[in-house]
Amino acid sequence: MTRGSSTARAAGIVTLVVAGLLGSAYVLGRSLVPDQTPRQSTGVTTSADGPHYADQPGLGEPGGAPSASANAAETGPAEAGQDGSGRNAGDDNLFGAHATTGTPRLALTFDDGPDPRYTPQVLDLLREYDVRATFCVVGENAQNHPELVQSIVDAGHTLCNHSWHHDVGLGARSADAIRSDLLRTNAAIRAAVPNAPIVWYRQPGGAWTYPVVSVAQQLGMTPLHWSVDPSDWELPGANKITATVLSQAEPGSVVLLHDAGGDRQGTVEALRRILPDLTARFELEALSTDPT
Ligand SMILES: [Zn+2]
Repeated sequence: MTRGSSTARAAGIVTLVVAGLLGSAYVLGRSLVPDQTPRQSTGVTTSADGPHYADQPGLGEPGGAPSASANAAETGPAEAGQDGSGRNAGDDNLFGAHATTGTPRLALTFDDGPDPRYTPQVLDLLREYDVRATFCVVGENAQNHPELVQSIVDAGHTLCNHSWHHDVGLGARSADAIRSDLLRTNAAIRAAVPNAPIVWYRQPGGAWTYPVVSVAQQLGMTPLHWSVDPSDWELPGANKITATVLSQAEPGSVVLLHDAGGDRQGTVEALRRILPDLTARFELEALSTDPT
């Protein structure tokens, strides 16, 4: 009898503990919902209309990007409100990130892709003019379009890590969070092109911080900024993009363009006009996979 009641009591305790654990799991699950929802909607966006990184604040980054920098998009905070030329941010804001090639040659860089609508068009134009460039790819897009990452590398272009989800506020996160974001992105790239070097990192929005520069370097990537920015993500039209690039290009320029993140047909059209002029005036290069 005593033994029976003690067994019954033990069973009751076990039931209570199990119920308590289930309850905790439910509460935990509920608390995770806000984190999961944006990720799911991002997946839908990616497959339907493509992501819109540059012109929208911090998608899917709850509690992440500070609102000010979230709206800074691809243009660094130091450049906003300046003369609109998109010239270099001040050195103080770059934390040592490269803004030029360091050689007389000019480099075209294409950010936020790959995107099945625009990346193939960009690749076709670059092939037509026998130009190699550098593609700063977003991890989730590399994961969704590995065949485009392969096409980029097969054509002789070089790669740059542009974070997993274009997190403009990444630099404000912990070193561990930054590291896992960058490593996740490299893993997605390497899943597509296992042997391709990834030796550059470009912070979304150019919102550099000491931690993001430092973690990128620890992972063997050199921080990459730019020196010519036609703000093509603002959709100024092919004429304006072309005029800005052609008037500002000089030896050593790193030109910032976008092959994804929104409607980039204007960029593609601008590229069609830019390439004959630039290739006549400069030697163009993909950024080295052995930066010094
Ligand atoms: Zn970007």
